[in-house]
Amino acid sequence: MVIPKEVIVRQTQMYIAGGWASAVSGAMREIINPFDQTVIAIVPEGDNRDAERAIQAAREAFDDGPWPRMTGAERGRILYHVASLIERDAEELAILETLDTGKTLTESRADMSDIVRVFRYFAGLADKDGGVVIDSPNANSASLVVREPVGVCGQITPWNYPLLQASWKLAPALAAGCTMVLKPSEITPLTTLRMAKIFEEVGLPPGVVNIVTGPGETVGATLAESPDVDLVSFTGGGDTGRKVMRAAAVNFKRIALELGGKNPNIVFADADFETALDYALNAVYFHAGQVCSAGARLLLQEEWHDQFVEALVERVRKIRLGSGFEETTQMGPLISEEHRAKVEQYLAIGRAQGAKLLVGGKRPERGDLQKGFFVEPTVFDDCVSSMRIVQEETFGPILTIETFRTEEEAIDLANDTVYGLAGAVWTRDMARARRVSRALRLGTVWINDFHPYFAQAPWGGYKQSGIGRELGPWGLEEYTERKHIYQNFDTQPMKWFG
Ligand code: NAD
Repeated sequence: MVIPKEVIVRQTQMYIAGGWASAVSGAMREIINPFDQTVIAIVPEGDNRDAERAIQAAREAFDDGPWPRMTGAERGRILYHVASLIERDAEELAILETLDTGKTLTESRADMSDIVRVFRYFAGLADKDGGVVIDSPNANSASLVVREPVGVCGQITPWNYPLLQASWKLAPALAAGCTMVLKPSEITPLTTLRMAKIFEEVGLPPGVVNIVTGPGETVGATLAESPDVDLVSFTGGGDTGRKVMRAAAVNFKRIALELGGKNPNIVFADADFETALDYALNAVYFHAGQVCSAGARLLLQEEWHDQFVEALVERVRKIRLGSGFEETTQMGPLISEEHRAKVEQYLAIGRAQGAKLLVGGKRPERGDLQKGFFVEPTVFDDCVSSMRIVQEETFGPILTIETFRTEEEAIDLANDTVYGLAGAVWTRDMARARRVSRALRLGTVWINDFHPYFAQAPWGGYKQSGIGRELGPWGLEEYTERKHIYQNFDTQPMKWFG
């Protein structure tokens, strides 16, 4: 595929206070295409000073600007406009996302369609909650509970779904009337920066959305610490999430954390064999396993073990690696050299702890893939709960297989992790599906499916997978304060004192 010239961004700037800015330090960072290590753009490497500037712009826009004071319907109208411009520019954004992340263009296009739906959903929700009148303690009074925006929000996103994760934070925060500073991952900022052009085009008031590029330790940490930020919403790994939570304690910020997962995909021996098999591949190898909800743990009922694993391995051998821009490619590279090294460490740990390698487990040998950060899709059988590859998020194309006999055993195995993000149950027995789905300590359970997430449904984790929910009315609630306004209609002295 020939990439259109206008998509190849050579240099770009941050977006602060409604204008384009370089880093105060003047520092720049090269953005690398993970398929061939070419430099696709050069962006400013901001630090705490740039973050502070952006926070002040968001503060002013919140304290004195029109955005929080508009009606929900007015904000909704602008968000609908944002959605149509994303739809107009979807192909350009998708190409940019594939260049930056290595994911297939088909996946990037699907991300863009999801993002349009997210903006439309929150545009529609913006004017739906006008508050409620509640029963008040005496007949001569009235009590109103109204919804107000939380204030200035710091938003920190990861590299695996750069613009999709940003949209899950931007759209509800905007609908609620907040102002914000968003820090994309330092290695995948391009679509988020491109999105700022759309905010400019729709005429969003200056300072409502600010985008600051740069490292987590400086820009991200400043957003988490600053007393001028009222809420921090973070998506990323648990270790970073802990730091964000600690920093947020400075001024008791509201926090929303979307963290990792180690998600069970439970296949009972009465499921639809072919569909469960097909989805088991999709569950784990989608975006080369770099998905928080990746179905990286296959829990297989004993009766099906041999035939299922044989068919699975045969399909895994056929997965086509390559450039995200080739139509035949099914799996792209990992995001970076550093991340591949981490995934390879897990391959070694798996072997050392006695998991049985059935396929993959190494870099591909094909000549045209040597510059990309590829690892072959991998399957480990004979896995048990105590293994690190079963417990820890590898964030790569690694599937572990555990075998169970009974429903109770499947539930115990599935819940035996510190994570609680998502998982699936495959069975034709709907009573069992209901029992198991209720027993799983997970934020999302799919029955006879894997991966559907959409704007109307809440997304978030139990246990160490996070705090709070994105999407749906719950996603809007995160950006909302509730204010109680009590009005006394019978103004007579009380004479309680004196
Ligand atoms: P990461 O934690 O390394 O980084 C996430 C973001 O935090 C980046 O923008 C980074 O610059 C920033 N950051 C780093 N140090 C910081 C600090 N001290 N203070 C503030 N911000 C800081 O995660 P990653 O490697 O970019 O992404 C992969 C992780 O994200 C995986 O664990 C994955 O499961 C998780 N994730 C979760 C979801 C979800 O919805 N639950 C979605 C996508 C990704």
